[in-house]
Amino acid sequence: MKLRVESTADAQFGTNSYLVEDEDTKDAVIIDANLEPESMVALARRRGVTVCAILLTHTDVDHVAGLNTLLRELGPLPVAVHDTERHVVAEGKPLRRQWPVQTPPVETVAALEHQKTFRAGSLEFDVLHTPGHSPGGVSLKIDGHVFTGDALFAGSIGRSDFHNSDGRALVDGIRAQLLTLPDETIVHAGHGPETTIGREKRTNPFLTR
Ligand SMILES: [Zn+2]
Repeated sequence: MKLRVESTADAQFGTNSYLVEDEDTKDAVIIDANLEPESMVALARRRGVTVCAILLTHTDVDHVAGLNTLLRELGPLPVAVHDTERHVVAEGKPLRRQWPVQTPPVETVAALEHQKTFRAGSLEFDVLHTPGHSPGGVSLKIDGHVFTGDALFAGSIGRSDFHNSDGRALVDGIRAQLLTLPDETIVHAGHGPETTIGREKRTNPFLTR
């Protein structure tokens, strides 16, 4: 497998969507569906890939708003999410009281389970439950890369001031599931630039104290 990772970010929230491609087979997945799905559709077409699934690190509106456009343009695909946030995708219920945004229900929901492998075409992701920003937050690891959603950012961590957040669980999960990965693992976060596990271990002010 030869992995290639490209991203698009929307202008409003700077939310990253990722196209993760196996260059040997042209199988790909999309991780998170930001507010400008047209950019991701164009990227997938430009790469000539077969998108096999959409994986969600969590279901805040800026990470799921583009789902319907992606599904309309790329065909009915499995949309994989942790069980505790399944209702957001399957029933279109908002994750947060603060942002009561309804999204159209998705019929093709699949499960991301902690410490299990999620297979999509030739791609295999290890699922790591990293809750705290939201109850069903997951990080997705593949071949020296980890996609951390809004758990871990370059130099920061996710917000935990929502009614369904848990700041302690967030830091505990990052330490147990992410900082134990090899230092050279490349971190692709839900917002902002990429980093590495080693750099965050050494310099992230929320984790070094
Ligand atoms: Zn976000």
